[in-house]
Amino acid sequence: MDRPRFAGIATFMRLPHRVPEAADGVEVALVGVPFDLGTTNRPGARFGPRALREAASMLRRLNQATGVDPFALVRAADLGDAPVNPADLMDSLARIERFFELVTARGAVPLAAGGDHLISLPILRVLARRHGPLGMVHFDAHTDFYDRYFGHSRYTHGTPFRRALEEGLLAPRRVVQIGIRGTLYDGEDVAFARAAGVRIVAIEELVDRGHAAVMAEARELVGTGPVYVSFDIDALDPSQAPGTGTPEIGGIDVHTAQRMIRALDGLRLVGADLVEVSPPYDVGGLTAWTGANLMFELLCVLARAVAARRGESS
Ligand code: MN
Ligand code: MN
Repeated sequence: MDRPRFAGIATFMRLPHRVPEAADGVEVALVGVPFDLGTTNRPGARFGPRALREAASMLRRLNQATGVDPFALVRAADLGDAPVNPADLMDSLARIERFFELVTARGAVPLAAGGDHLISLPILRVLARRHGPLGMVHFDAHTDFYDRYFGHSRYTHGTPFRRALEEGLLAPRRVVQIGIRGTLYDGEDVAFARAAGVRIVAIEELVDRGHAAVMAEARELVGTGPVYVSFDIDALDPSQAPGTGTPEIGGIDVHTAQRMIRALDGLRLVGADLVEVSPPYDVGGLTAWTGANLMFELLCVLARAVAARRGESS
């Protein structure tokens, strides 16, 4: 309360800014990844971190619904943006991976803001080295299990989890995808994921069964092992989150998304991201504001997980 929320330099949730080299003691690291070279259609997610920081500076500290005050539970900081090379996709992935290695080497759990969905791949590489193959709860309109684009391109925002599975970063039977819908190229991505043991909850099933039943099943599937959470903003209905590159109609409403993230409480969460906010397609900052609030919900469950593990040997 020393200064109004609209004043000062915008960081995620008005947290102190630290460089990773000076982040000893930081338990949850908020990191921007201004990268969209994996985008196959409408670009702009490289501008997501700045818009999300601006929006997130409006947030207050207490989660009214759950009573969680993440800033009282853990030491959190904004570690700035991962370095990217806008002229080189593969070099960017290497730079992002090195940055997250630096962040996690000091014990911090990452909460990343994209960027397009390909940023999840280098983060998963770092976390899987630390924890072994991960479970994942993935909110998205798309599976992102495509193999390749235009015959040979293996690294796009439609392929991160195919690569992650090939690289042994994910335990496929502990992966749940929620909100899947829309038109397909050929359905090979869905068939591949199902054959690998991934649980796909299409939007129709979510609406028919309700979020509580779906999240109860998701919690059962990911179990007690390490879990990553990846939230693609295009999981939401485009009427509520228009600022994204690949919108699909008939999506999740914001309230249901909040309830589903809160239902992750108690899992062994080791990191999370919120991706695909594309400010050039946004309307009045609506998508960034929604994304910032969902990042806050993610921060709350991550903080609870980190506080619960404190004192355990990792
Ligand atoms: Mn995605
Ligand atoms: Mn998507």
